[in-house]
Amino acid sequence: MINVLFAAKTERWNTYETPLRTAFAEQDLEVDLRTEFPPEDVDYIVYAPNGDLHDFTPFTRCKAVLNLWAGVEDVVGNQTLSQPLARMVDYGLTQGMVEWVTGHTLRHHLGMDQHILGQDGEWRSFVPPLAEDRRVTILGLGTLGLACAKALIGLGFPVTGWSRTAKDIEGITCLNGPDGLREAVSTADVLILLLPNTAATENTVDSQALADMPEGAFIINPGRGPLIDDDALLMALDSGHIAHATLDVFRIEPLPADHPYWSHPRVTVTPHIASETRPSSASRVIAENIRRGQSGEPFLHLVDRGAGY
Ligand code: NDP
Repeated sequence: MINVLFAAKTERWNTYETPLRTAFAEQDLEVDLRTEFPPEDVDYIVYAPNGDLHDFTPFTRCKAVLNLWAGVEDVVGNQTLSQPLARMVDYGLTQGMVEWVTGHTLRHHLGMDQHILGQDGEWRSFVPPLAEDRRVTILGLGTLGLACAKALIGLGFPVTGWSRTAKDIEGITCLNGPDGLREAVSTADVLILLLPNTAATENTVDSQALADMPEGAFIINPGRGPLIDDDALLMALDSGHIAHATLDVFRIEPLPADHPYWSHPRVTVTPHIASETRPSSASRVIAENIRRGQSGEPFLHLVDRGAGY
């Protein structure tokens, strides 16, 4: 019997219990899945950082902590964590992000707001350029950034990507490093942020990066709030240098009711819904990792604790 502790908020248990049991059965894993165990009996922890578990020290035989979310910033620095940490890479999560990013990119590209908000009886002729004439840059070329890049390329957008390590991906102008960032933002008619929240990525979009962006560019941030210097962005929006920012993630969530983003005419706030881990597909990822752990195979999607993601 494999003892799996589900360590997340109660509402998550309600959502995940059945899909997890189904996924374990599909893998022929004999699992005792519970929300409580004596720590020394636990083989795996299915984890979300907003629950009550913060000290991993007593989980002496635990083979892996399997994070339910893609972002690991709330657990990766936990000094009590000696077990391997896997993040979530989930088909449903990726597909949801592709749809959200594509939708918001097309909204700005096609100028949909002008028609949706401007139904005032005046017949304005506004013809958007073709996608091939709108340059998109994606900061972060990992699971989500790459999937979004491929979808946008499929629609005809020229795509530049920026990552920590150098890459060579067909159809994408791949950049890395500080000079690469400068080039990446300076060619971004639409800038999409899909970086993790680490010490190295904080304020990637600062006043310099914003100044380097083309006049009238759009920013779409489904990554994490700290990637942007908020004050610098507000100044760039006020001046019109940045035409619009669609923001799904914030330094403080929920975004406080008096935050200037809520009322800014050039900002769209969405409440961290760009994409969700989908219980059925994510449970199969968890089950696959437990199967791997049991048969001595390497875990999927392990976090590099040093890099922080
Ligand atoms: P990955 O780990 O697969 O990809 C991260 C990418 O960021 C990689 O390309 C990596 O480079 C790059 N990167 C990391 N650090 C740096 C750096 N210092 N400089 C330049 N590039 C860097 O993550 P995912 O694609 O799965 O997810 C990305 C983020 O999306 C998550 O961390 C999370 O914050 C956010 N997210 C938001 C959701 C929402 O609903 N709003 C839902 C899910 C995720 P390299 O390839 O060289 O390693």
